Amino acid sequence: MVETNRQVLLKRRPNGMPVPEDFSIVDSAVPEPGDGQVLLRGIYLSLDPYMRGRISGQPSYARPTALGEVIEGRVVGQVARSRDPAFREGDYAAGGFGWQTHSVVSGGSLQKLDPAAAPISTALGILGMPGLTAYVGLKTIGQPKSGETVVISAASGAVGAVAGQLAKRDGCRVVGIAGGGDKCRYVAEELGFEACLDHRGAHLAGELAAACPRGIDVYFENVGGAVQAAVFPHLNDHGRMIMCGMISEYNDVEPRPGPNLMAAVRKRLRIQGFIVSDHAALRPEFLALAAPLVKSGQLKYREDVVDGIDNAPGAFIGLLQGRNFGKLLVRLGTDPTH
Ligand code: NDP
Repeated sequence: MVETNRQVLLKRRPNGMPVPEDFSIVDSAVPEPGDGQVLLRGIYLSLDPYMRGRISGQPSYARPTALGEVIEGRVVGQVARSRDPAFREGDYAAGGFGWQTHSVVSGGSLQKLDPAAAPISTALGILGMPGLTAYVGLKTIGQPKSGETVVISAASGAVGAVAGQLAKRDGCRVVGIAGGGDKCRYVAEELGFEACLDHRGAHLAGELAAACPRGIDVYFENVGGAVQAAVFPHLNDHGRMIMCGMISEYNDVEPRPGPNLMAAVRKRLRIQGFIVSDHAALRPEFLALAAPLVKSGQLKYREDVVDGIDNAPGAFIGLLQGRNFGKLLVRLGTDPTH
């Protein structure tokens, strides 16, 4: 059987919430690696909220995906052919490119993975970009101190679950916000947050007041919109708001009226955004902290694995609607380490 490279391309720019018709799925020839390059057979594809920005065509900190191009994404896989002496056939690596089953990338851009050290999928989640995002946000902006109250939105997700567990390790009182009873139970009972509030319920503002009787010192913002509006009045003097993302607004066709940020002046709040890729230098210290904790089970994670590249568009649309529960991955092929 001739192997083909199955790819998901951007067919048109979504207007509001993406629909399956915005994507097209095609088969093409498996590419051949050139000098210094490696052909990676994908095992897991990471689906992440930032991809909504890339397919929108809006000016941003990164180049948008062009129409007809393979959609951007990070892949963990196995080396199928190598023309880089640092990689051998059968090696596992992170750094494959795009919503496709095979990719050719330079060996220098790949990170070799040891399946005995941690499940290979974790290089896309808890020990990858989302885990580092949680760490960077807390370390560079939130700087939580023991005894402080920390609130985390999208608390069961790839970034939020790590942020909350790390803040707990710093001795903070951590309250999560998530969508639905199952996610809230997971956050409170398995991740050990003090409480987790359902943003789909009608009483988030009142529940926040009850769950945070001493107010909120640090808010890890992943969601924006109505959740942000409910959290904002509870921020304490000298509170810190980690502006990580605002996923609830990524599908807006028109910008919505914002909160009254005058309170940031009155309360001397520090509100600072960040992009995790500016902080790659923190990766070794993050992994030194997190990898042993993942191995010993002290840092927990949950993956939501969807089977087959053809299901990537539907799974991505689900991510934007909260249907994923944990780090969302697409299984591109058999995982021989599992
Ligand atoms: P998650 O695994 O948390 O998945 C996204 C979650 O967002 C959904 O499961 C859902 O959880 C929540 N959500 C989606 N739509 C809405 C909505 N309308 N209202 C409220 N919640 C919603 O994703 P990640 O952990 O990968 O990303 C979390 C945030 O971090 C995103 O905003 C992302 O853009 C940002 N980010 C920023 C980075 C940076 O460098 N600044 C780097 C990486 C991520 P629920 O059902 O619980 O609401």
